Amino acid sequence: MRITEIREMSVPLAGTISNAVVDFSAHRVSLVAVVTDHIRDGRPLTGVAFNSIGRHSQAGILRERMIPRILAADPGTLLDPATGALDPARVLACAMTDEKPGGHGDRAAASSAVELAVWDLLAKLGDEPAWRTISRHHGRPGATAGVPVYAAGGYYRAGTGIPELVREVEGYFDAHYEAVKIKVGGLDLAQDVERVAAVVEAAGSGARVAVDANGRFGTQQAIDYGRVLEQFGLRWYEEPIDPLDLRGHRDLAEAYDGALATGENLFSVPDVKNLLDFGGLRPDRDLLQMDAGLSYGLTEYTQMIDLMETAGFPRSAAVPHGGHLINLHIVTGLELGGCEAYPGVFEPFGGYSEQCLLSDGLIHPSDAPGFGLEQKKGLDSWIKEVTR
Ligand code: MG
Repeated sequence: MRITEIREMSVPLAGTISNAVVDFSAHRVSLVAVVTDHIRDGRPLTGVAFNSIGRHSQAGILRERMIPRILAADPGTLLDPATGALDPARVLACAMTDEKPGGHGDRAAASSAVELAVWDLLAKLGDEPAWRTISRHHGRPGATAGVPVYAAGGYYRAGTGIPELVREVEGYFDAHYEAVKIKVGGLDLAQDVERVAAVVEAAGSGARVAVDANGRFGTQQAIDYGRVLEQFGLRWYEEPIDPLDLRGHRDLAEAYDGALATGENLFSVPDVKNLLDFGGLRPDRDLLQMDAGLSYGLTEYTQMIDLMETAGFPRSAAVPHGGHLINLHIVTGLELGGCEAYPGVFEPFGGYSEQCLLSDGLIHPSDAPGFGLEQKKGLDSWIKEVTR
């Protein structure tokens, strides 16, 4: 098997939503196709993936550095000697040739799109859903009964207020999601608390509601918010402060009894190790949200999970950022704590295909080969274009 071509297409996110820090109306995502000389049904076998959501497309790094390195490599060095098929870890290592350690920024997202496309390709080679390929590779049974999923929404939308927010989350409960997440930090504390109180009332319990500040606060402001939020018994309080402010996390964990969640903006094993060693997180309640699509792909992500377990966290504490099909297969294959979903948000990448069943707060991937991205309405036409 040999890679003949790697294509990248920057696809715009639909919609005009914001969190406390970012306006997503100008965001794009890199859709990547890894094309091989292996012929299936008269066409080259091709793996497809993207670099999750939220860190912009990575056309420059991919086209100028990573894709030329992989295409210039001796094809045999990219293969798993045991199977003769592409090895995601070897492809990643090749993409990272001549890159210095540290500074895990956009290149972590760029390389992840390629590494994950190789996983999609391997699953298609075996004619099976990617979660099966992932679980077998890691010697695990996979979460065959489905995985918990919650609806992530409650963004700040110009011209809307609390009635629209409550209608939005009621729609998620009507659609059989059992928990929701909304944004905080985009308004002042009193106004944000009104939003949270209204959503908790609609949910019937704070245990069904998480809040996400997207790293907006300094430590003291995060503690001030935490003191007020504590009354609601929330599911979790997400990314209150900058993800690399380890002392701040430690101080906040000492001041806030409820569950904290963070990690979606940590892109490497050393960053996660620092958080676990120095961030004061508590294995009995806190959650880690690293996202393979932002952090060098599944190869690096599984090492992060190993670190978590070594630090005493259960696998259920891993709840990746990124509500899309790729993470659904990863969570299912590795039996992690659950997925988020972005119903109707971040299209065409966010959310799941119609073939994925949602019942009693659990979601099940479809049996489509690979990540099943071709089944996702709106994304299917982009995939046709990038694989044409
Ligand atoms: Mg978040």
